[in-house]
Amino acid sequence: MAKDEPDDDTLPDKDAAKGFYAKYEPKEVLGRGISSVVRRCIDKETGKEYAAKIIDLGASEHNDSRQMLEATRQEINILRQVMGHPYIIELQDVFESDAFIFLVFELCRHGELFDYLTSVVTLSEKKTRYIMRQIFEGVDYIHARNIVHRDLKPENILLDDSLNVKITDFGFARHLNDGAKLYDLCGTPGYLAPETLKCNMFEDAPGYSKEVDMWACGVIMFTLLVGCPPFWHRKQMIMLRNIMEGKYSFMSPEWSDISEDPKDLIRKCLVVDPEKRINVREALKHPFFNTVMRRQSQFNAKKKFQFAILTVRAMIRIQRLRYTPEPLDIEEALRDPYRVKVLRKVIDACAFRVYGHWVKKGEGQNRAALFENQPKVELHNLYIHQLQK
Ligand code: ADP
Ligand code: MG
Repeated sequence: MAKDEPDDDTLPDKDAAKGFYAKYEPKEVLGRGISSVVRRCIDKETGKEYAAKIIDLGASEHNDSRQMLEATRQEINILRQVMGHPYIIELQDVFESDAFIFLVFELCRHGELFDYLTSVVTLSEKKTRYIMRQIFEGVDYIHARNIVHRDLKPENILLDDSLNVKITDFGFARHLNDGAKLYDLCGTPGYLAPETLKCNMFEDAPGYSKEVDMWACGVIMFTLLVGCPPFWHRKQMIMLRNIMEGKYSFMSPEWSDISEDPKDLIRKCLVVDPEKRINVREALKHPFFNTVMRRQSQFNAKKKFQFAILTVRAMIRIQRLRYTPEPLDIEEALRDPYRVKVLRKVIDACAFRVYGHWVKKGEGQNRAALFENQPKVELHNLYIHQLQK
């Protein structure tokens, strides 16, 4: 749609803000950025819900409003190039005014993948496969259009009503011709690729390209599986040094239950040399996404052994149940002590001690009487009567 539009360099229409408020009714805040607020809004005519990113052109201390305007126009331009894919956010409407720009997006009711992960702590391999496949498919679509996102992270991956991925925030995205390189430092520290950091450190750094998104995907995937990121350190300098050296590990105990395929894919994303890093097409062909059937039937000695131990433990518990006395309710014991197995044994033993001499050999009848467990009606009533007094 906008790809063919001429680059409009005139100042925005002053009445555009009015246009937004005439069409949409803004509601509660869904999220915030450095100079933007995202609110749920309702189309007054259709009643359909959207998310409006309201960018305050005068809010940033570092950029003047002209720069902000240019940056937002670039974001809009890229959004229009990547739209139309199920895993990429859909831009619905744009309104520009002197002070504000309104970007109206499809609404992602389930919010950020970041918050989802926080609520569930970690994702299973199966869930990680589901989410990562969608992220890679979205990235494939973006890269195929020669665009690099540069800020992939769980905060910029939204989840729609069916918990499907929507890649968003193309604020740092750039169009790159074949072989072209970028040099500026932008993104989020924990997700920065080594080659991006090198641009900031060395004059003669070769620059970076689309591979930085694959590095970020590796960081995301690691984080989804175990809940913590691969390159975190209290001191940011140490974290950055670890990134430069590609120093991370699968040593924490959480990794012991995770199979080899996802680890292998993460290893291939977190390769320091961007030329040797896996690209998005290769990632989608990785066994992690393609050998579900084989993996299910694969023999895993450790898992089998753990399962056997659990089964034996369960059997022992069931067997022991026979010897575990049932909980004794004092009311019940008072009302009908003979019904309780342990008490019955005690009563029988006492009864035999007292009346055993009555039991005559060869006379089964009075032996049975000693096991009589229904109180005689008159005696029972008398007993209850006395208790109530
Ligand atoms: P910024 O460039 O300022 O980071 P984002 O586009 O990432 O702005 O939006 C900021 C936050 O607003 C997101 O992280 C998310 O929580 C929320 N948000 C953005 N777009 C949507 C949407 N379409 N549906 C629901 N929430 C959204
Ligand atoms: Mg963001």
